[in-house]
Amino acid sequence: MKTKYDFLIVGTGLFGAVSAYLLKQKEYSVLMIDKRAHIGGNVYTEKVNGINVHKYGAHIFHTSNKEVWQFVNSFVEFNRYTNSPVANYKGKLYNLPFNMNTFYQMWGVKTPAEAQLKIEEQRKEASEKLRAKSEQLGIPCEPQNLEEQALLLVGRDIYEALIKGYTQKQWGRQCTELPAFIIKRLPVRFTFDNNYFNDTYQGIPIGGYTHLIEKMIAGCEVRLGIDYFQQKDELDAMADRVIYTGEIDRYFNYQHGHLQYRTVSFETEVLEDVTNYQGNAVVNYTDAETPYTRIIEHKHFEMIGADVVSCPDTIISREYSKEWQPGDEPYYPVNDDKNSALYAQYEAMADAQNKVIFGGRLAEYKYYDMHKVIERAFEVIGQL
Ligand code: FAD
Ligand code: UDP
Repeated sequence: MKTKYDFLIVGTGLFGAVSAYLLKQKEYSVLMIDKRAHIGGNVYTEKVNGINVHKYGAHIFHTSNKEVWQFVNSFVEFNRYTNSPVANYKGKLYNLPFNMNTFYQMWGVKTPAEAQLKIEEQRKEASEKLRAKSEQLGIPCEPQNLEEQALLLVGRDIYEALIKGYTQKQWGRQCTELPAFIIKRLPVRFTFDNNYFNDTYQGIPIGGYTHLIEKMIAGCEVRLGIDYFQQKDELDAMADRVIYTGEIDRYFNYQHGHLQYRTVSFETEVLEDVTNYQGNAVVNYTDAETPYTRIIEHKHFEMIGADVVSCPDTIISREYSKEWQPGDEPYYPVNDDKNSALYAQYEAMADAQNKVIFGGRLAEYKYYDMHKVIERAFEVIGQL
């Protein structure tokens, strides 16, 4: 076994795996470690009863970046899955994202002109409030929080039924305490189009994400079940440089305090002899009372048409969102003002390290989607 590598990569998630592949191309030697017993980080999928289960939550790949799309497709083929979640609000179903189907279900409006009039009426309260504030301050004002942004985008009825309860469950915070950008991820359309994303390319890797990661890191030495901090000195001595993809606050021993995260717990059930439980991969429960945020039916990510019924069983996961406690998996960084200020302190410390590169969702404390993580790895490794 080699004792000296060019790079030690801490974490076999997407950032670590893309970095490993790119470094290999540049003929660097790489050792990868992960504290988990498997590769892939949060995109890990596991085959159960013939179905690829997204162990750490539903993952749909989408991007408008052709280079990224060609990159992932060079390892595995992607299917034509298009995410079109359904929202269940107190027993009534609505299509997402907010589009003509949703507006019809909500108000009975049938044409884009009718829908636009209705939305204008719904947005009036929020847009007048913002205009008055801008006039008073003499500068154009932007929505200050998620509630203001949502009311400005879609108005009161949709906010109350499809956003408020779901968001408060997902983030454990009032919509008035959350940043506006979170809700801007969702498209608002005046067409009958239930595609959750506006991106040019979308799909699921056939055979699961684990297969994609395996292909990326083929030929690299990987050691699993190793926590970097248990053997840091020994591991650091084995490589010239380190790529660290874990939590940034942990790296610096929480010197400035803990960054906050949201975590998700999954209640997964194998339903034998049920071929089709909910007819869709994702159903969101948008009221405040249902304790889970959504139910995922994993087979629908990869099985389309007749394949759904020819697989005799199905697997569902109810997702419960909660505040992260030490020992939990950190999932979502909470990019509010308090945490952003704390992160800035850690970021300054990270910038001062010349042997270590910090990359990915946890090390950069950013709400990155998969394609953004890949773009970031291209950028970081491209500079080496
Ligand atoms: P991670 O996947 O978290 O990888 C970090 C790795 O480092 C982990 O394997 C961890 O075990 C390891 N590690 C950490 N600390 C140590 C240590 N001390 N020692 C050793 N190993 C360590 N993106 C999309 O594009 N589409 C989606 O539909 C989508 N859905 C999502 C749903 C959920 C519930 C979540 C949480 C995220 C979702 N994402 C989605 C985002 C996507 O998961 C991330 O962009 C991506 O997985 C981040 O990769 P990463 O390598 O930065 O982090
Ligand atoms: N959201 C909502 N209702 C829904 C789905 C999403 O209000 O039915 C809000 C919620 O605040 C969420 C944000 O829209 O955090 C972005 O949704 P997305 O599905 O992109 O979140 P993800 O789970 O991928 O982070």
